[in-house]
Amino acid sequence: MHTLPLRTPTELDAMRAAGRVVAQTLHAVQAAARPGVRLRELDELAQTVIREAGAVPSFLGYRPAWAPTPFNGALCLSPNEVVVHGRPNGRRLREGDLLSIDCGAIADGWHGDSAVTVHVGADPEDDAPLLLATELALSAGITAAVPGATLLDVATAIDSVARAHGFAHLPDHGGHGIGRNMHEAPFVPNEPTRDAARHRLRAGNTIAIEPMLHAGTSGYRTKKDGWSIVTADGKRSAHFEHTVAITDDGPEILTACVS
Ligand code: MG
Ligand code: MG
Repeated sequence: MHTLPLRTPTELDAMRAAGRVVAQTLHAVQAAARPGVRLRELDELAQTVIREAGAVPSFLGYRPAWAPTPFNGALCLSPNEVVVHGRPNGRRLREGDLLSIDCGAIADGWHGDSAVTVHVGADPEDDAPLLLATELALSAGITAAVPGATLLDVATAIDSVARAHGFAHLPDHGGHGIGRNMHEAPFVPNEPTRDAARHRLRAGNTIAIEPMLHAGTSGYRTKKDGWSIVTADGKRSAHFEHTVAITDDGPEILTACVS
């Protein structure tokens, strides 16, 4: 059995502060995501909100081992068939786009990480069932994140909702431990794995839970920019994420509060 690090009450307060900045940023960016607005403009707005709150964008300049270049923005902006890791660029939003907005911020050395998927204007392709299923999957995963449960319980809860609604996961991707680093062990899978049963949750653990669902079943490919992950069949996808603290009173969402 592997144990996750425990956060002290003071550390959890710091993570609440980071989570609040992320929630405020997503709130502002979501409201600004209108037809004609460029992705780069949304990213500039996010950087302003994060810095005015006294925090630091955690994605900007981030370069995991697999990435060809440091990330170029404060947000991952992933339209339509882009599942995650879309780069802020000059693309203008169009009526009917489905946009995943993923944001990370660091406050006093502690991280928050959260994502939402929103419609830009109308819903011509009837994405509502996909959005609902992905939000419900996140909610089920959070509800399962209680002391004594394992990450297998979290993964099974997420996967059950995805299956019940007939959607597929982005393979090989999921959530993660989070604290002084954005991405910490362990991997928090969206589908049951053998390893997930070896991680038991205790009050004081902090994890990011993030289902990524799509209508197709054909897997994914990475675009030439080395970052953007798109569904292989071009089907649309949705992504929701929260940073969550496990407490004796149940899961506490650290990235929900905008006030
Ligand atoms: Mg994220
Ligand atoms: Mg994350």
